[in-house]
Amino acid sequence: MYAKNAWEKYEGEKLNELMAFNDEYIKFLSVAKTERESVKEAIKLAEEKGFKDIKSFKALKAGDKVYATNKGKNIACFVIGEEKIEDGLRVLGAHIDSPRLDVKQNPLYERNNFALLDTHYYGGVKKYQWVTVPLAIYGVVCTKDGKIIDVKIGDDENDPIVGISDLLIHLSGDQLQKPASKVIEGEDLDVTVGSIPLKGEEKEPVKALILKSLKEKYGFEEEDFLSAELEIVPAGPARSYGLDKSMIAGYGHDDRVCGYTSLRAVIDTPKQKYTSCAVLVDKEEIGSVGATGAQSKWFENVIAELIKLQDGFCEIKVRHALENTLMLSSDVSAGFDPLFPQVNDPKNSAYLGNGIVFNKYTGSRGKGGCNDAMPEYFAKIRKVMDDEKINFQTSELGRVDQGGGGTIAYILGNYNMYVIDAGIAVLNMHAPMEIVSKADVYEGYKAYKAFISKL
Ligand code: MN
Ligand code: MN
Repeated sequence: MYAKNAWEKYEGEKLNELMAFNDEYIKFLSVAKTERESVKEAIKLAEEKGFKDIKSFKALKAGDKVYATNKGKNIACFVIGEEKIEDGLRVLGAHIDSPRLDVKQNPLYERNNFALLDTHYYGGVKKYQWVTVPLAIYGVVCTKDGKIIDVKIGDDENDPIVGISDLLIHLSGDQLQKPASKVIEGEDLDVTVGSIPLKGEEKEPVKALILKSLKEKYGFEEEDFLSAELEIVPAGPARSYGLDKSMIAGYGHDDRVCGYTSLRAVIDTPKQKYTSCAVLVDKEEIGSVGATGAQSKWFENVIAELIKLQDGFCEIKVRHALENTLMLSSDVSAGFDPLFPQVNDPKNSAYLGNGIVFNKYTGSRGKGGCNDAMPEYFAKIRKVMDDEKINFQTSELGRVDQGGGGTIAYILGNYNMYVIDAGIAVLNMHAPMEIVSKADVYEGYKAYKAFISKL
């Protein structure tokens, strides 16, 4: 069902199912504010469905439900299929990091009766969008004596929030003459965290009171910021959006909306011919680099481990497994915004409500940096989408030469597996409040289920 509005087929019980699934996604998105929190939630969901840590298996048989994690920031869930792992998997891969502001290593300072935290933005952000919005602090502080202290401030209703100030309109004469990229500069994205001075303290008394309360509540000191990873993210839950409640407003749809639907597709679908897998990775927004990004050897190592448990380790079987795999790179697409039609080619755009979006390629300029998917592969996927009556559409990332971007698709493509980008259209991508259509969330979930069971 190509380029048709998916809402047309939903009424009665089917509509209730769609809304119920989205309510579950709203709950997930409201708590999975970071990659670490997303992995914790994913483990909970998987364990509820009977998945067990790979470390607890001595051998694998068809139907086994297995998960593996990496450093608290990646998870891969597998349902072992009837065919050997060597014959390939059906992989759904999404990223669970989202643009945000990271607290610097030496962050805390006092100025003019305020204590502030210095930040360094992570991923692509329009900096002016991050001021005067409620913000929360998530992450870990690791102390020299081996403690890992979890920090979560701003999403419990009894918590305070934090935020970044902006200039009052009355005094913005000069500021408003600047280009949007300079209105708020990266070095000025500093978070206000306090304003009460510690009594009797001469030097930086407001900062001193903040440090005292952090010590009392969390048990860490200023120097412990050196080995901390604290992420500033929008505070507050995801909500239904629109008078008809047809959409969801929330932080981090890119790419937790594809992460959640991919994960649910795998954990909700029983054993198939081929082993199914949902893999959730970190660091996509900064190039998929490092130990927890898609470029890490971790996923390959997990496949090697599965083969070892199924058949005994054999290097060539690992390579065959990867090469024989079919993958959807589950990542969001740029939704067509009626207020900004000029940045798109209307006949090659993703429209909210028209179902899952397939991008043959992303990239920028002359497709630079993209995974250009094989048409032979997409033909098979199209057939399954039509056979299963799933609404789908295709799109490019904007008009030619308007900008661009990338996904993890090419990285898995490097194993010589077939990969295509397939995800959900988002409005306001990378803003503190992103928007998706509930119909697309549900069609995405069904498309992912069809992919792992029919291809
Ligand atoms: Mn993305
Ligand atoms: Mn992104």
